Amino acid sequence: MPSKVFFGTARQARLEAKETLPAKLDLILEQLHLRDRVDKETVVIKMHTGNNMVYSTIHPVFVRRVVQAIKDGGGKPVVVDVNWDTEGAEKRGYASEVIGCPVYPAAGPDEKYFYDHERPYKNIQTWRIAGLIQDSSFLVNFAHVKGHPTCGFGAALKNLALGCLAGKSRSAMHDAMHYDPYWFPEKCPDKSLLAQITAACPFDAVVEDKEHPGSLHLHMEQCNQCGRCLKVAPEGSLRIAAVNFHSFQEACAHAVDIVLSTFAPGKAVHLNLATHMTPVCDCFGFTSMPILPDAGVFGSDDIVALDQATLDVIGKTCLIEENLPTTMEIHTREGHPFRWLHGPHKDPYKVTEYSEKLGIGSREYELVDVLPLEYPERTSMPYIAAH
Ligand code: SF4
Repeated sequence: MPSKVFFGTARQARLEAKETLPAKLDLILEQLHLRDRVDKETVVIKMHTGNNMVYSTIHPVFVRRVVQAIKDGGGKPVVVDVNWDTEGAEKRGYASEVIGCPVYPAAGPDEKYFYDHERPYKNIQTWRIAGLIQDSSFLVNFAHVKGHPTCGFGAALKNLALGCLAGKSRSAMHDAMHYDPYWFPEKCPDKSLLAQITAACPFDAVVEDKEHPGSLHLHMEQCNQCGRCLKVAPEGSLRIAAVNFHSFQEACAHAVDIVLSTFAPGKAVHLNLATHMTPVCDCFGFTSMPILPDAGVFGSDDIVALDQATLDVIGKTCLIEENLPTTMEIHTREGHPFRWLHGPHKDPYKVTEYSEKLGIGSREYELVDVLPLEYPERTSMPYIAAH
């Protein structure tokens, strides 16, 4: 049976507060029965609190409404994120006076508060789940949707996958992309060619490996798989292959599976806010122009259905190409707009595919619009209406 995903479009008919996104978030929280589910629960709200001067993360107005709903229901909320993002979060509006609850680093200020979980995957054996995540009894996963240089996009799945793990595990998940070999030195006996290969990349994505002179290292985040380097490299010496890029998304699915296993069934809800979507992650510490039209707010008990529905809705809109940074290029126009932006091997849907295979949720969903858009023939333009 398809999972229900509740949706509030960013568009509105009338210039009235009740048709805007915070009000639609309230409707989604009602549909998810959040208030009825959190009595006496220790509720951890996992969100991305951004870094430095980013201003496109979830606006405190939305966070406050979630916090209030939890308090109304008798729960005890706390917002968490990784330590380097919670540090200074108050400068971006995430202070208890504003949002109504404290903001803590999920694995402690020095990331020494975590629980080990064993699961072998490529280079990873042990996964460190942040202590405040595992020690809480209810999870509200509140994600800002945006592009991402490692996997095409970030939303609910990635918010848990990276944001609920301590630093060493986050690094190991990125290293998974290097597990399958991509440089075959025996196919390139002429080492003078290395300089030509690295020079062919306009993004400095392929460089000589400092630790292993004579070898190449691929910065996967910087690579959009344009193939310029492959035109210079001797045949078979360098591989720009999906398996390396997809490893990160598969690792994300495993991390989410482990994170959610620490909560009892029915003790997690997931929310995506798809507004001011930028090309790269909120941890970059700045906000660039939006690259897609605002889509709206989404909520579900099924994290896989949620990200799938979010991607599908966004995929029906067009990349705002004139808003792209001039240093980014589009060399494929197939598939999802996030794929156009970050390259064919960074297909944003891969993480939902891997997550479904692990049984985390379903990619089949029913989209329930909590306030369908109307097209009234006549309406009066209100002046200032506070409510
Ligand atoms: S495929 Fe393109 S972006 Fe990637 S390393 Fe090669 S030249 Fe650079």
